[in-house]
Amino acid sequence: MQSIQGLRELLSSPAKILITTHHKPDADALGSSLALRGYLLKKGHNVSVVTPTDYPTFLNWMNGNDEVIIFEGNEAKANKLCEEADIIFCLDFNALSRINKFGESVRKSAAKKVLIDHHLEPENFATISFSDTSSAATAELIYKIITALGDNALIDVPMGECIYAGIMTDTGSFRHPSTNKQVHLIAAELIDKGVNTSKVHQLIYDNNTEVRLRFLGFALSEKLVVLKEFHTAYMLLNGNELSRFDSKTGDTEGLVNYALSLHGVTMAAVIIERPDGIKMSFRSNGEFSVNDFARKYFEGGGHKNAAGGRSSLSLKETEKKFLSVLPEYKEELSK
Ligand code: 5GP
Ligand code: MN
Repeated sequence: MQSIQGLRELLSSPAKILITTHHKPDADALGSSLALRGYLLKKGHNVSVVTPTDYPTFLNWMNGNDEVIIFEGNEAKANKLCEEADIIFCLDFNALSRINKFGESVRKSAAKKVLIDHHLEPENFATISFSDTSSAATAELIYKIITALGDNALIDVPMGECIYAGIMTDTGSFRHPSTNKQVHLIAAELIDKGVNTSKVHQLIYDNNTEVRLRFLGFALSEKLVVLKEFHTAYMLLNGNELSRFDSKTGDTEGLVNYALSLHGVTMAAVIIERPDGIKMSFRSNGEFSVNDFARKYFEGGGHKNAAGGRSSLSLKETEKKFLSVLPEYKEELSK
């Protein structure tokens, strides 16, 4: 694997290591970070994990969760760790803007930076880069890197659960086109190591609160807009609606997939009014690239079939902009 020798040398003596991942981490971001933490601790390093923001409570079961430092509210501590680090691992993101203000601290730090990621068009800020856009998940890369370093035997059940969670969620439970034979083989190897895959699935997906389920019902019945002409379905959610259903971090995750599951839909979007601006999630089926779409119009990006973006306009103005650019893609969306 490219860069593995450089990484081996970097890790050859005990180091102060910081692991960070993207804003509002999902199961792949946090699972990769905590699995890597488990490995580096076993190798005798001093390891901290900093996330830019909080994350859904349905990830709290992950081993090492109690040691995670959330940058928002702990800025001084996080910045100090960043300054003092010998190595900073940047997991599951392709640009320092994805880690908000913490990105500046990471950029300034004299630490060697190691990027491990599977998003398209990575920014060039790392000393060593493992960027594989064909990987289903960053957690898959973590598994492969530890294995390439000759340490597969160090992957224990708690680390394996984190890796499995990342792969399971980023592949949409093994259904996206990224789910190749290799992905299934890694899952099988994790089962061999003792990972209870059905338990991991339950911890993540069977963890709804009543209000979250009612919010899903509300969004599907009242907020879903279907534009047959453009093979597009979207939902617009304002701040009041989120408060009415006591929406917490992670509660809107997955909504966009319901819109994509509609027969005949090529692109789905969820546009949400958050206190810090408008956040957008895009998904597509087939060749339509929501990475290109989000990059061009909504300061975002991600993968071909799953991307995110943002807007500094109001919710309504953002909707208008979204609707106004669809005609440009009419033909592509109808394929
Ligand atoms: P989600 O819709 O689940 O927030 O994000 C979908 C995918 O796009 C994830 O892989 C996520 O990391 C990536 N993503 C989300 N928002 C952004 C963004 O603003 N910029 C970039 N470059 N990637 C994003
Ligand atoms: Mn990922």
